[in-house]
Amino acid sequence: MEQGNEKSMGVIDKLTAGKEYYEIRLESIGGLGANLCGKMLGELGVKYMDLNSSSFSSYGSEKTGTPVKGFIRYCRKEKEIRVHSPVVEPDLLVVFHQALLKDEALWKGCTKETNMIIALEEGQEKVSYPQGIGNNLGACFGLEAQRIAMETHSRINVVMLGAALKLMGLESPEMGEQICKDTLGKKYPDALEANLEGLRRGYREVRRLELPLETPENSTASKKPGGEEVWGYETAPIGGINPRPGSTVVSDLSPSRQGYIPLFIQERCINCGLCHSTCPDMVFQFAKGEYKGREMMVNQGLDYYHCKGCLRCVDVCPVNALVRGMEAEHPNKEFFLPNQELLRMPEYYEKAGPDGYITSESYLTEQRMEGGEV
Ligand code: SF4
Ligand code: SF4
Repeated sequence: MEQGNEKSMGVIDKLTAGKEYYEIRLESIGGLGANLCGKMLGELGVKYMDLNSSSFSSYGSEKTGTPVKGFIRYCRKEKEIRVHSPVVEPDLLVVFHQALLKDEALWKGCTKETNMIIALEEGQEKVSYPQGIGNNLGACFGLEAQRIAMETHSRINVVMLGAALKLMGLESPEMGEQICKDTLGKKYPDALEANLEGLRRGYREVRRLELPLETPENSTASKKPGGEEVWGYETAPIGGINPRPGSTVVSDLSPSRQGYIPLFIQERCINCGLCHSTCPDMVFQFAKGEYKGREMMVNQGLDYYHCKGCLRCVDVCPVNALVRGMEAEHPNKEFFLPNQELLRMPEYYEKAGPDGYITSESYLTEQRMEGGEV
């Protein structure tokens, strides 16, 4: 960590060294709490660090599963913040989930001045990134954020907040604790102590990772025919078609599940199509088939790559043909019909293991049982 701090100047260091702004970009998935984390970081600057700050987030129309970005800017108190655009070249990049590393866009704007924090899997020491674009980092840090959140019964956002405070150069997590008390203390007093512990552990347990990070052999970052990897129009497919449009339809959303999946019991299904019209991510696959002796569109199964585990389909199914199950207990999902055409980056895809973690007490007490459970 000391080694990292030598290289990585904190907020105050950079601002007093003449930098106009200190900028943070949060990269996350809806449901992990990055929006709140960004708000707390912004308020922290004004209330406790004697700085000016701004913070805003960008996210999709749905609460869970869509990409979320948070942008935080600090500057000296006597200066006005006149820039209100997203953070392009972050001093600190905070990545809430491994799956996001596959996206080249995440690495845009990283320079040798950029420090990165990544939420690691348990026991993980290496991090993969698209070849040729992950070298532009000052230093990289990691912590097992999900495990810490699970053990402390807090949320991953406060753990990442604690880690960010460390990289911002704060000598203790005290100011972070204060902002947590201000924000969470009123709204969720029962959960406050757990979240404070998550924050402290995030601050303590973030550690430096060796650079360069591991590069996957099958990397497919924009390649010229000769193998050289570059960004730019020359590497765009013929016709200028964007093969990775920003729709959630083509994203691999499996990492955003938080322990639960819908399970399909085909013999109960009456092919009413309610699940299909309710699912925000076009997970259900209907094809011509036969039901009760009549030819009709029949529910064939689910493309779990795009299922973010919101369980709306379970709520609407009138005959309990969809029920809630623990993903860890169903590693081989029956009726899993992957639609490779829709995968955002099929070459990068590594089958995501079941996500059995429960990151918050609220999930333990969740009462969404109408659809039944197996
Ligand atoms: S809502 Fe239920 S019954 Fe209707 S098509 Fe979907 S799974 Fe089948
Ligand atoms: S849980 Fe159901 S509604 Fe939600 S994304 Fe998955 S299939 Fe669609």
